[in-house]
Amino acid sequence: MTDSDLEPRLRPWQRTAAGAGLLAADGSIASTIFAEMSALATASGAINLGQGFPDEDGPIEVLDAARAAIAEGVNQYPPGMGMPVLREAIARHQRRWYGIEVDAASEVLVTAGATEALAATILALVDDGDEVVTFEPSYDAYAALIARAGGVHRTVPLAFPDWRPDPDDLERVVGPRTRLIIVNTPHNPTGAVFDARTLAHLVRLAERHDAVIVTDEVYEHLVFEGRHTPIATLPGARERTVTISSGGKTFSTTGWKVGWLVAPAPLVTAILAVKQYLTYVNGAPFQPAIALGLDLPDAVFADAAAALATKRDVLAAGLTAAGFEISIPSAGYFIVADAAPLGFDDAAEFCRRLPHLAGVVGVPVSAFVHPDRRAATRSLVRFAFCKRLDVLQEASARLAMLGGRS
Ligand SMILES: *Cc1c(COP(=O)(O)O)cnc(C)c1O
Repeated sequence: MTDSDLEPRLRPWQRTAAGAGLLAADGSIASTIFAEMSALATASGAINLGQGFPDEDGPIEVLDAARAAIAEGVNQYPPGMGMPVLREAIARHQRRWYGIEVDAASEVLVTAGATEALAATILALVDDGDEVVTFEPSYDAYAALIARAGGVHRTVPLAFPDWRPDPDDLERVVGPRTRLIIVNTPHNPTGAVFDARTLAHLVRLAERHDAVIVTDEVYEHLVFEGRHTPIATLPGARERTVTISSGGKTFSTTGWKVGWLVAPAPLVTAILAVKQYLTYVNGAPFQPAIALGLDLPDAVFADAAAALATKRDVLAAGLTAAGFEISIPSAGYFIVADAAPLGFDDAAEFCRRLPHLAGVVGVPVSAFVHPDRRAATRSLVRFAFCKRLDVLQEASARLAMLGGRS
């Protein structure tokens, strides 16, 4: 958006956020599709599969540990880098699952969710005019943060239904001006897991252009087949990678906002310099609780992924019976479905009608794509399946009726 596109009535302090695309020309919050769809769900009584948060609690031990920490007086500012008990648990977790040796004292930073880790990293490492590469569609915070940091956002398209990036696109988009490459695997909104070849290609490109890799791995434990491979485990990657994760998705504690990043000490220091003035610290009693969660036995993680895979299958069956073409996610909370076979080529319009047609709410994938590049994802809808099994069974049955086959 250029200044001349802005309403003349915008105040100078509104123009700053509007220029980064965060405020609309009338001064309202720019992206409202999630809010709009949730309001629609509430108003119509439809099942809300638009928002990606679980409607069931995670491991009781984790919840009890937070209650105990509050009772024991863990209620004041924790250390700036996070409580040692959590930093050490994160280091143990990286060793146990991925064989990565991490120094808990200098290479781990606890943040207010993965979101603050992303914000602090982007604000710390991106200067005006630096290029930042992301895949597209992608989690909406990336574009907003890049814009606010003054970065130039370059994107590599991922295409329905297999979402595999074209190596030629990677070569074309990553270049000498690339400061950061933001990777998200397993991926939101598509549920795709990047294959080893793509990850290795990204590392080669980052090395060639001396770029930092920022990898958002919040769905690391919600993989349905095989195991997650952090890009930091690839040869040459670790010294230039900021690995970001969070307890929110793994333990169904999205409201606690306990996240973290793991990176070489000089990168951690640069990011901490920004983070200390964003939140300083957060979530004291939740930190020992997430630490306890990270040390839970393998079976707890496997069972959570298996339960989610069952939910995926229930929703996939309903969507298929309805007549959608779907892409089966390998991980995460979401299924992307194409509404075109049902005769709808505009997913935003379709999502506004779906509560009335079927009593279900989804969100258009266009919400994860820059407005100039929405053609390829125009008819795609994202549905969340991180909901109670009975809720998904009901949603699935309602959707199936769209196809007239149930
Ligand atoms: C949910 C989500 C986040 C945010 O994580 P928090 O820990 O809640 O801040 C970041 N990235 C992706 C891809 C997500 O889906």
